[in-house]
Amino acid sequence: MKPTQSWGGMKGRESRQEPVYWKQDLHAALLRDTQFLCYGQGRSYGDSCLPSGGTALLMSPLNKLQNFDAQTGLIKAEAGLSFEALLDFIVPHGWFVPVTPGTKYVTLGGAIANDIHGKNHHKRGTIGCHVQELEVLRSNGETITCSPTREAEFFAATVGGLGLTGVITVCTLQLIPIASAFMDAETIKTTGLDDFFTLEDESARDWEYSMSWIDCMAHGKKRGRGIFFRGNHAKNGDPAAEFTEQAKWKVAVPFQAPSWILNRWSIRAFNELYYQQQQTRVKKGRMPLDPFFYPLDKILHWNRMYGQHGLLQYQFVLDSKRQQELTEIFDIIAQSGMGSFLAVLKKFGDIRSPGMLSFPRDGYTLTLDFQNQGPRSEALFKKLDAIVLRAGGRLYPAKDAMMSPELFQSGYPLWREFSRFVDPKFTSQFWQRVSRG
Ligand SMILES: Cc1cc2nc3c(=O)[nH]c(=O)nc-3n(C[C@H](O)[C@H](O)[C@H](O)COP(=O)(O)OP(=O)(O)OC[C@H]3O[C@@H](n4cnc5c(N)ncnc54)[C@H](O)[C@@H]3O)c2cc1C
Repeated sequence: MKPTQSWGGMKGRESRQEPVYWKQDLHAALLRDTQFLCYGQGRSYGDSCLPSGGTALLMSPLNKLQNFDAQTGLIKAEAGLSFEALLDFIVPHGWFVPVTPGTKYVTLGGAIANDIHGKNHHKRGTIGCHVQELEVLRSNGETITCSPTREAEFFAATVGGLGLTGVITVCTLQLIPIASAFMDAETIKTTGLDDFFTLEDESARDWEYSMSWIDCMAHGKKRGRGIFFRGNHAKNGDPAAEFTEQAKWKVAVPFQAPSWILNRWSIRAFNELYYQQQQTRVKKGRMPLDPFFYPLDKILHWNRMYGQHGLLQYQFVLDSKRQQELTEIFDIIAQSGMGSFLAVLKKFGDIRSPGMLSFPRDGYTLTLDFQNQGPRSEALFKKLDAIVLRAGGRLYPAKDAMMSPELFQSGYPLWREFSRFVDPKFTSQFWQRVSRG
């Protein structure tokens, strides 16, 4: 049996795996063992999707659509359904998921358990804001049907609840209407963080999606330069016809790259090239859905580029008044020489997240990928953690592999209240680490 694996390359410690095809089969499975965790598509980077023992419930086969209303865009589906399959079905009908992460290889259950956010947080909040109802199976055999108004506390614990409150079996989600399968997009070359701050504020009203790629190796006067992206669903199209036309080819990284391929020079060269490839300040164009939302999905298993020790992602959110701390963080990363290809900066809006442990809240969120260099990475993350802690920010559990209990508990003050709803048979490597003390 190959252990479950997270996107960053960490391994599950389960002794058994149970693919779940039918809701009914879960009852028997839950009686059989003493410890469980659901596993979606393993697109969480660190250890929050990894069992610390017992049974990994493989949720992807539980993926049947139960109901879809093409007039209202309300969809009811089993939680193992992937965004990929969902989009293939809904886009031709003129609907889209209200919130999507940067990959479509996630399940509905995994997305809700992490209360994911997308490039449109300022307009739509998190996925949990659009969930109308959930069915959750507990290890004692009880099914709890919950919603923002029914069993509301349990709902708030389950949305963003890291899979710890039981198995989400079925969910009902409100989709958003689209008139085209194309995006009207703009990319703007920025010269520094001030440019980014202005563009985010300017774009908040008229643009559904926005975020920025930052060259995190650039320092001094070039610090914080990058490419700002924004987009809207195009108007007056034909989603069904346009979606069928859109190319779906993919390439795969065939094997684990040697670790030395990524070093401060290759990363700096990549970032410089990526920044310079845009010749003019502003570029406008019409884009198909996949390259706009899921550019990395085109390269399957791109995580293998980070070598045998895998990658670590670091994502935090800081209050928007903490621009000074944000600048400090960029300086530390540039000095460390351990920069990443992928540094994404976004401003979350003020829509309240529905989950007790939801990550998004008003402020700036920065996401960075790093090659896992063991103690070197740990030392860098400790420095960044100290700033996040001092600034009253928090890290995203879906991306985390190293956060201390102190940082988790200060960032998520409702965690004790949340723990009242944790199913006694459910735990993860992440939860074992951060809920100590
Ligand atoms: C390229 C890339 C880009 C990403 N971009 C974003 C982004 O923009 N925004 C964002 O928020 N995240 C982003 N992510 C993270 C990703 O969206 C989340 O980690 C997502 O939750 C993964 O879904 P999954 O189905 O693979 O779940 P897993 O990673 O397998 O599991 C996630 C959690 O869900 C629980 N779970 C899974 N299924 C169920 C179920 N049926 N019932 C109860 N609990 C369940 C698991 O126990 C675990 O705690 C990105 C990840 C990648 C690889």
